[in-house]
Amino acid sequence: MSMPLRQVVVLSGKGGTGKTTMTAGFACYAGKQVIADCDVDASNLSLLLQGEVRSSTPFIGGLKAWIDPDRCSRCGKCEEHCRFSAIKDLKVDSMACEGCGVCHIVCPSGAVELSEAVSGDIFVRDTPYGTVVDADMLPGEPNSGKLAARVRAVAREEAMLQGASLVLVDGPPGTGCPVISSITGTDLAIIVTEPTVSGGHDLSRVVDLADHFGIPCAIIINKHDLNPAQSEDIERECARREITIVGRLPFDELVGEAIINGQPLPVYAPGSPAEIALRDTWENIMALLDRTPPGGLVRLKGL
Ligand code: SF4
Ligand code: SF4
Repeated sequence: MSMPLRQVVVLSGKGGTGKTTMTAGFACYAGKQVIADCDVDASNLSLLLQGEVRSSTPFIGGLKAWIDPDRCSRCGKCEEHCRFSAIKDLKVDSMACEGCGVCHIVCPSGAVELSEAVSGDIFVRDTPYGTVVDADMLPGEPNSGKLAARVRAVAREEAMLQGASLVLVDGPPGTGCPVISSITGTDLAIIVTEPTVSGGHDLSRVVDLADHFGIPCAIIINKHDLNPAQSEDIERECARREITIVGRLPFDELVGEAIINGQPLPVYAPGSPAEIALRDTWENIMALLDRTPPGGLVRLKGL
């Protein structure tokens, strides 16, 4: 019997917590898996995992309006009704246009056309650590949530084709649309935080989001030794909310060196303090995933 496909997403309340570095490290330990880089506004997992692009597909993110000057009677209704101020002097600013279609509806002359617009490209890469699906979003495009959802769908299709049992998702920081696209339908959310006051606050918001969607979550405290008092606060809050802490990584200068050299930590610095802690963390995550029902709707208590 084939193993069910499991999905684990790595998130953080804000950028710069080490989320992508950890995801790249997990990719080295995970074996047969597909990795989805859903941080589509700042996609950089491939800088660490490298690999060759096998395919690239344009992503149609939505519609854009266009005014035919030959049919336009210059009544001004489209400009008046556009909530996004995307029409000025009877010209559509495609960066501002959200494709809502109101101008098309209100135009009495049938002068507004809506056409599909390319918002970015989706890439499938073969890397030494498994297939990576990622994307480039065109500047100013508003559909990062839709693009993140598409990246996940392509990664899932790849995993099914390859008979892989895991999709590892590198989610965007924060709690916006692409985060929601990254977390919904996953089995487990791993939230990376740092021991700072704002880190604790951002962590709470992501935990609330995971709770809202019924996704079990667990926490990694990165650089936990830099601020022991703040780390203890996070530990207390996790205990209060019955959230598992799956990893406590120490500050380690080799992590920064690995990034500068464009390599995952387990490849650049195997056996370093942070790498050992990262490997233990991955084992904890896998143990937790084994205890989590597919699409798990329960909060899991500590290991
Ligand atoms: S489609 Fe919507 S956002 Fe775009 S120009 Fe028309 S009214 Fe404005
Ligand atoms: S609503 Fe139609 S006719 Fe009127 S200004 Fe806009 S495009 Fe021209």
